[in-house]
Amino acid sequence: MERVTDLFDPDRVAVVGATDRAGSIGRAVVENLLDGFRGEVVAVNPDREEVLGRPCYPSVSEVPGPVDLVVVVVPARVVVPVVEEVGECGIDNVVVISAGFGETGEEGARRERDLRAVAERYDLTLVGPNSLGIISTPSGLNATFVEGDAQPGSISFLSQSGAFIAAVLDWAVTRHIGFKDVVSLGNEAVLDEVDFVEAWGDDPDTDVVLGYVEDVDDGRRFIETTREVTRETPVVLLKSGRTEAGASAAASHTGSLAGSDRAYEAAFQQAGVVRADTVQELFDYGQVLAGEPDLSNRSVGILTNAGGPGVLAADAVEDTGLSLATFDDATRERLRSVLPRHATARNPLDIIGDAGLDRFEAALEVLLEEGDLGSLLVIACPTALFDFEEFADRLADVAEASETPLVTCLMGGESAARAARRLAERNVPNFFDPARAVQSLGVLAEYQQFRTREPATVERFDVDTDRAAAVLDRATERGRTQLGPEAMELLDAYGIPVPDGQLVESASAAADAAAHIGEEVVMKVVSPDIVHKSDVGGVEVGVAPAEASAVYETLLARARAHDPDAEVLGVYVQELVDVESGVEVIAGAKRDPQFGPLLMFGLGGVFVEILEDISFRVGPLAPAEARAMTEEIRSAPMLRGARGRDPVDIDAVVEVLQRLSQLAADFPRIREFDVNPLVAAPDGALAVDFRVTVDAD
Ligand code: ADP
Ligand code: MG
Repeated sequence: MERVTDLFDPDRVAVVGATDRAGSIGRAVVENLLDGFRGEVVAVNPDREEVLGRPCYPSVSEVPGPVDLVVVVVPARVVVPVVEEVGECGIDNVVVISAGFGETGEEGARRERDLRAVAERYDLTLVGPNSLGIISTPSGLNATFVEGDAQPGSISFLSQSGAFIAAVLDWAVTRHIGFKDVVSLGNEAVLDEVDFVEAWGDDPDTDVVLGYVEDVDDGRRFIETTREVTRETPVVLLKSGRTEAGASAAASHTGSLAGSDRAYEAAFQQAGVVRADTVQELFDYGQVLAGEPDLSNRSVGILTNAGGPGVLAADAVEDTGLSLATFDDATRERLRSVLPRHATARNPLDIIGDAGLDRFEAALEVLLEEGDLGSLLVIACPTALFDFEEFADRLADVAEASETPLVTCLMGGESAARAARRLAERNVPNFFDPARAVQSLGVLAEYQQFRTREPATVERFDVDTDRAAAVLDRATERGRTQLGPEAMELLDAYGIPVPDGQLVESASAAADAAAHIGEEVVMKVVSPDIVHKSDVGGVEVGVAPAEASAVYETLLARARAHDPDAEVLGVYVQELVDVESGVEVIAGAKRDPQFGPLLMFGLGGVFVEILEDISFRVGPLAPAEARAMTEEIRSAPMLRGARGRDPVDIDAVVEVLQRLSQLAADFPRIREFDVNPLVAAPDGALAVDFRVTVDAD
């Protein structure tokens, strides 16, 4: 995406709608550009001869000489003709700041469609409309109407909210955070977040991509593109909307649990994107990912002159999935030689409140040379024994020379703030809170794991697609959208093991089926109106064939008692499965509007919603992704064989997940389904109950 990065590197910028009028956006943009841009700024406005003392041209086509970027700040109704003219002139790059498009209703939406059509016709690289503008620090380009400016750095930042950019830039100044490029995406008529992630992935001056996103339009493209980028360049996104208004009436467990935030969570994970929950996290993570070398292992060393903060940091290490380094004898020996007698040579290494710079430095040297540390956190509280700013300089020297990631936590007020500035200037991540420092190291480990992950290749199984299609067609012909165990054939067609079973429509047929199936059977009422059969007494386990016809009547009577209007299709007579020998798990999928099939796995049974012990991935699932789903849930130890039980056949479960993922991908008309329970036993996995919702036509 070389062309997208061209946006940030123009020699000559024209502002259409440039004006002197105080308080106007047109003036703010020109002023920001004139302030520090190393290229040339040209004003365009048919009503003016001069803007801020510079010549002004009536239209883009009348500007003498080449123009590389056009910034549009004219009223919405004239934007399309202006952009058309830009295209006519053979200029590629446009930023439309003007608002009054899709965000304002019907007429605006039409205008936005027109704008997109023009951009496509001329193949324009267009940001906006309704964008706050773009910034690129190497050339001093600030084509925004934001107050203040960005400091140079190696973070490139995108935002779907303009207001958010304004706030972040302001705040970044106080934290001494610098940027390479910044873009406010506006309505994304042409370029969206994925285009910039992709472009910055190839930009040697961007060390990390940060972003604020509200939604992703094309989920598949997002995952596929971003997954490639994150192998080289870390991407951290702050995604709003973690708390969702309850999912609308869902017809399955998966449906009720698979909200869109779950899809984002899964997609980010699969794409190698680090998710931040707050602005602070966004920049904390950005800072460590931008500058720190790789961790050689997960052990963390903590060096401090104060006990309390050291313990806080140690607690955070446990919570983050990192480990506290242990010092070997040789290290302890050397540490003792640099520590006062009453200090103990263990991690966290407390060199005590009377430590001066020399002791700090001596201990640092030992830890870095001997410790075999994956990373090092230095915590310091201000004392009269050393100067914080001098300390910061020395720490930065050490950090620069070291192969081990080093982060700091200089606590305190005024003096700590001054020291923090020095550390920031030298790209040493510094935090005011030990737990945050540790969390950021955790993110470094998380990202490293992403990056070294095997590429995900999806396996395709040989399945009977036609037979599955026939099951769905039959349902559609009969006007059914809610199918239960009677649709087990769908699973069978996809090679997923199911117990023997049969739908019957009379008591005598039930008796025949039961006699045929086994010495004991399970009988379940089948009704599109009853989602959870056992809730209404609709499942009888361990029925002898002699009782089958009576149980048939009982089940129907219970269904009617529950809901006299429920449509009852009959009873499903099923082979009795030794559920006790395994673990009841759930495997399901739901079609997500952005990402397509979202697969779910978890602890199954009737308490799924209460336990919420579930994991998600966007399909199609690669084997490693399916396996990770089974490893992520809290109850994973139950699958591995807790309390003397045999471990379940995880490979079989993983294969079922992959086959379900294939089923969901092959039939977009399936809205959601779940297999609950899937009985995961030591000798295989068996789909015992099934529920599926399909589109009406
Ligand atoms: P629902 O989820 O609609 O209540 P299920 O078919 O999942 O109905 O049955 C509820 C429970 O009954 C299952 O979780 C399982 O414990 C038990 N069960 C269902 N089918 C069988 C079977 N074929 N063999 C043994 N137990 C079963
Ligand atoms: Mg069930």
